[in-house]
Amino acid sequence: MQEFEFYLPTKIYFGEGVIKKAGQEARRFGQRALVVTGKSSAKKTGALQKVEISLKEAGVEMVLFEGVEPNPSLKTAESGAELAKEKRCQVVIGLGGGSPMDAAKAVAVLSTNPAPADQYLGRNRVKEPPLPIIEIPTTAGTGSEVTPYAVLTEIKKEGSRKKILTDHLIFPKVALVDPELTLSLPGSITADTGVDALSHAIEGYIANNSQPISDLLALKAIKLLVHHLPKVMDNPEDIKARSYVLYASLLAGMVIAQTGTILVHGMGYRITSDFGLPHGRANGLLLPWVCEFNLTERYDKFALLAESLGEEVKNLSKEEAAKKAIRGIQRLLRELGMPENLKDRKIKEETIREFAEEIMQDERKLANNPRRATLEDIIKIYKRALRGEIS
Ligand code: NAD
Repeated sequence: MQEFEFYLPTKIYFGEGVIKKAGQEARRFGQRALVVTGKSSAKKTGALQKVEISLKEAGVEMVLFEGVEPNPSLKTAESGAELAKEKRCQVVIGLGGGSPMDAAKAVAVLSTNPAPADQYLGRNRVKEPPLPIIEIPTTAGTGSEVTPYAVLTEIKKEGSRKKILTDHLIFPKVALVDPELTLSLPGSITADTGVDALSHAIEGYIANNSQPISDLLALKAIKLLVHHLPKVMDNPEDIKARSYVLYASLLAGMVIAQTGTILVHGMGYRITSDFGLPHGRANGLLLPWVCEFNLTERYDKFALLAESLGEEVKNLSKEEAAKKAIRGIQRLLRELGMPENLKDRKIKEETIREFAEEIMQDERKLANNPRRATLEDIIKIYKRALRGEIS
């Protein structure tokens, strides 16, 4: 059997109302907590107030760092860490979608390691253990509550780039995964973030770094998303369906924590930073085409994937069944109202080439992709996803 390693040092609480455990969990680490959150949703939905009350009851003082922007910048993380140090915070709580959760991880790092933040981008560059991190997701989603990644935007004169800080030291100590917090998500964010979770599960399942336990989690996550995401879109108040979607996103986060992602994520970052598409929607544009490109290397897995996506595969050859997985993914994306391409934007040939050339520098993503991609392959995939061109 395949040799593998599975590491997940996060204590997970899942269920309606578990946000109330914020105080008791934070208290284990100290008496002053920095709560990192976005611009307004946590306040509007009452999630922030719930954390505040829980901290107060446990005798923990709350210091608030709010206003984290989508796709948070390194500068934002540095500002958060300045506040944490000034107020002598002993634990950092990320409350929100992937953006505030990732910012919280970087703030925790910079509270115990000197700025600037860019020196920690890449793999295992953090020297001192960060402040303990507690994550409370309000999107379903990124799975950041159980991953060792923080995705941060580096803003330079030549443009913004999304970069990853990867380190086992930033695995959250605690994840409070509370489906009630996702009830307020509007349809478009539910769909975008749900597609992100789907992409994590599929990418992790076919990645070269996939392994037996993560495969189990990935197939389960896919089945749950196929079944429950459309239900949530039809009835946003369906707490049962919301719970399953959030659970699926948690499982998919556990998957990529072990396997990493493949070309979908690598290629999606520039679509977000240059065209402003939300992270999950950018992944949705690329997902069918990256999968199709990898089909020949993973007939067995794609055939199982087709089944998990609810496709009829009885009496089909392995190759035919595998192809149905692509159809299943497209069907779900359409049902969720995802765009099929960006051809209205008239994206130029040279822009696509520039994006593709950048991917060729990312050896880690190329190596984790089942089929080795050339520059021309990447250009072809971008053309399909962005301009709807079938060559
Ligand atoms: P996000 O955190 O940027 O939030 C998107 C929007 O949703 C915001 O406007 C926010 O205010 C709103 N929102 C959040 N929760 C809400 C709620 N309950 N009700 C109403 N509105 C709500 O989006 P995201 O997709 O969760 O996170 C994307 C970020 O996460 C990207 O930077 C991406 O690269 C990163 N990411 C990180 C990991 C990881 O492992 N660390 C994995 C995948 C993605």
